[in-house]
Amino acid sequence: MIKDNLNTIREGIREACDKSGRDVNDVTLIAVSKFKPLEDLMEAYEAGAKDFGENRVQELVDKYEKMPKDARFHMIGHLQKNKVKYLIGKAVLIHSVDNFELASVIQKESEKAGVITDILIEVNVAKEDTKFGCFTEDALSLVTRISKLPNVRVKGLMTIAPYVEDGEENRQHFVALRQLGIDIDSQNIDNVSMDIYSMGMTCDYKVAVTEGATMVRVGTAIFGERNII
Ligand SMILES: *Cc1c(COP(=O)(O)O)cnc(C)c1O
Repeated sequence: MIKDNLNTIREGIREACDKSGRDVNDVTLIAVSKFKPLEDLMEAYEAGAKDFGENRVQELVDKYEKMPKDARFHMIGHLQKNKVKYLIGKAVLIHSVDNFELASVIQKESEKAGVITDILIEVNVAKEDTKFGCFTEDALSLVTRISKLPNVRVKGLMTIAPYVEDGEENRQHFVALRQLGIDIDSQNIDNVSMDIYSMGMTCDYKVAVTEGATMVRVGTAIFGERNII
């Protein structure tokens, strides 16, 4: 079941790549496994999934410790400063950095652990009140400040687009995120690259891929609905 779902999503990514002249190897599928039991993750792992997305620190760390060593865990949810220390060295990429104070704590904890932590800047391109993320117009100055932190490396941008029935409605937001990345890249800031565009979820991942997503974060279409209160 999970295996079939994964294959369907991989097929969808391939179609979107074909349509937009992209190489399917440039798109990483992140299986968003938040709230799902370990056996579901193992089933996905057996079917070839190696990248998992979680939005709570404790859950990510628990699963990280129990899954095979080559499973990679992405922190995709809002991150509180006091929880950063548990994540360092365990999350392969933190997708949700939207303010300098958080980046500074990641710096401090990474330095302590003797590692460099890769992050993405979360941008609220659609300017939804309910979402985290910096605004588009503030992203360049945020990236510039973070670039001075030696143990933090900005690798690209992430956005959570609005929930929609028809993914086409979000195309504008994916275009906007990609354009922002191109603008930031053109500044050639030391210690900053714009190689990663983390955008697209169950409702709109195909559209995101045609607009340049290099990581899509898909949960429901792989693992089914989440039973959360
Ligand atoms: C839950 C979540 C997803 C996956 O959403 P689905 O609609 O289930 O595919 C992707 N990104 C983030 C940040 C999430 O919190």
